[in-house]
Amino acid sequence: MIKTRFAPSPTGVLHVGGARTALFCWLYSKKMGGKFVLRIEDTDLERSTEASVQAILDGMDWLNLDYDEGPIFQTHRFDRYKTAIQQLVDQGDAYYCSCSKQRLESLRETQMANKEKPRYDGCCRELSLHPEGEKELVIRFKNPQQGEVVFTDHVKGEISVSNQELDDLIIQRSDGSPTYNLSVIVDDMDMNITHVVRGDDHVNNTPRQINILKALGAKCPEYAHVPMILGDDGKRLSKRHGAVSVMQYFDDGYLPEAILNYLVRLGWSHGDQELFSIEEMIEYFSLDDINRSASSFNTDKLKWINQQYLMSLPLTNIVKLVEQRLVKINVEHQSGSDFENIVDLYRQRVSTVNELADSILYYFQDFDEYDSKAAKKALKSVAIEPLGLLLDKLSNLEFWEKGSIHQVIEEATHELDINMGKVGQPLRVAVTGGSFSPPIDETVAMIGKTRTIERISRAIDYISSK
Ligand code: GLU
Repeated sequence: MIKTRFAPSPTGVLHVGGARTALFCWLYSKKMGGKFVLRIEDTDLERSTEASVQAILDGMDWLNLDYDEGPIFQTHRFDRYKTAIQQLVDQGDAYYCSCSKQRLESLRETQMANKEKPRYDGCCRELSLHPEGEKELVIRFKNPQQGEVVFTDHVKGEISVSNQELDDLIIQRSDGSPTYNLSVIVDDMDMNITHVVRGDDHVNNTPRQINILKALGAKCPEYAHVPMILGDDGKRLSKRHGAVSVMQYFDDGYLPEAILNYLVRLGWSHGDQELFSIEEMIEYFSLDDINRSASSFNTDKLKWINQQYLMSLPLTNIVKLVEQRLVKINVEHQSGSDFENIVDLYRQRVSTVNELADSILYYFQDFDEYDSKAAKKALKSVAIEPLGLLLDKLSNLEFWEKGSIHQVIEEATHELDINMGKVGQPLRVAVTGGSFSPPIDETVAMIGKTRTIERISRAIDYISSK
């Protein structure tokens, strides 16, 4: 059975690169009818935090990337790593090393001065040392000195590295804790991981990991090392480029469907298709089609995709999100079919949920300024008369609902003998602040009597003061 894993270190937020790796792992396991494991690599006690663990779980949850096993925490498995390390020592595949920091530093300096690649020289390799008394020693893996490690990466093709290039890696620190390369392979082995899909910053670790796996008698998984994500300036994606945290996109009003769709296309393609349902992603995804070169993050494209999903997802989903956003920014609103109509109308015109909420705020809250273009066009002195008449009629209107409001507006056009635009547009700008809104009678009905009257008076004052 195919089994993949996403193995983040909880040392920061879940960023888009990590989320894309998680998505690729998830898609592949779904496609193959396999399993997907979430493993939290928290062995670096100094840098791992509870908050990061939570951020990873929240991100996975928001993106709907469900896992069959986990979250499994490496810190709960220290005993198991100890056993594996002991096995390697007993087999003669690992050894204690007593080299001091100073010795290693001066070794490194000499190598650098000789323009050699810095590497451990194997000083303790054949000494059969054992820890004595208080002083704990590190343990190194005895990397084979002959031959080469060859593997075929699904993304990068065949990779072969001579064992002479690889030095004896520390697998247990002097405090007894395992290092990344050790814990990762013990877990991949114990969890029967068949496909390791991860960032290509780990490609150099792979030959070492393969050697350790072989020493433990395990079968090697297949590998797919995914190229990194760059910002639009060609540099490695970082905070400088804006949001890198997945949950920031949630806060900014993006839809998880859109994020997944954007991420799947970032470094993978299926012809020219841009929009994929989850089912299509699962059907078409293949590790071998992951691009070899790095991809650039493009916020405009993400926005475009988000807009597509805003328009095409069921209205009730979008309504719910807009309501959540309004609650978050402390804006009271009335739910119901009028509200749904507004959301439906506006979702065609914005790219995020937050933008949508912002553009309908005038229904529920007073606004400070008119859109300057709209005011210039509609709030002119000729508008004083129709606005005045509307103010009068609407103030006397008893039943505040769409139909009677419509009637009032029509009456005004007849009485003044002008066309609908000359009445409706000044009214629209007066009550909404801008030149776009749903049908004006509906809009006015939703805004309510008190606010409408106040806003018309304010518009008249605005025109008169100019
Ligand atoms: N924990 C590693 C990281 O977050 C990933 C390890 C792996 O996928 O093998 O970079």
